[in-house]
Amino acid sequence: MAEESVAASRGDSEPEADSSPAAVLRSLHRWHQKRARAAEKIRRAQRTCELRRQAITEKEQQLEQARQQLKELRRQIDLKEIDQKTKEQRIAELTRRLHECKTNREYALLLSERKAQEAAAGRLEDELLELMEREDQLKARLDELKRELEQVRQEVAQFEAETSEKIAQYEQALKQAEQELARVEQQIPKSPPELRETYQRLVRQKGADAIATVEEREDLTFVCLGCYSTLPPQIGMQLHAGEWVLCSSCGRLLYLDR
Ligand SMILES: [Zn+2]
Repeated sequence: MAEESVAASRGDSEPEADSSPAAVLRSLHRWHQKRARAAEKIRRAQRTCELRRQAITEKEQQLEQARQQLKELRRQIDLKEIDQKTKEQRIAELTRRLHECKTNREYALLLSERKAQEAAAGRLEDELLELMEREDQLKARLDELKRELEQVRQEVAQFEAETSEKIAQYEQALKQAEQELARVEQQIPKSPPELRETYQRLVRQKGADAIATVEEREDLTFVCLGCYSTLPPQIGMQLHAGEWVLCSSCGRLLYLDR
């Protein structure tokens, strides 16, 4: 990005000795362009900051998602642990009843249920181990995300500090351009009143493109560099006579390119 040094453009702020339309328009054109460039730089810098801040939001969302996953995993583990405890109690109860049972049939039934409960408890144990392993991994990921978020926050803070310095410079350049415009605009003749009105309307509509240079070619044709139309010879004569002229094609205020 080309740095527009405010100090370097100071030389332009000296009062114009030449108040011809060409000199006034040239100066206005330049200051409008500087103002537009400064405004664009401010807009871009602010946009870049916004985009950087989005990286924080994204990381925060990832972190929140991981927290929710961890919470859900914990809930599943808690449920399975309750389930496991219930099964262990049941197995203990079945074991106790096996010692007390009177008939072979009852013994066989109790034994069969205990076997089933033990098998289920074994599967539960495996599932729990797997869930706990996933919980450990997720906890590690969560810590990693926290570190990453902290890093992104620091980077963005640093970037914003640097950018706000630049923005302050651009704002200074913008302010200077506006002051200079206000000063040079005083040199636009007050009569006819339509002249200032036209200028103001064009600036509102087109900004820096309210004004265009005219190139006088070797074949004596005049070309508006705003719309690249060849202008009628009459306009060329008016420009040479030092008159205020609008492009017959695009309506911009014209001045001869020296
Ligand atoms: Zn034009």
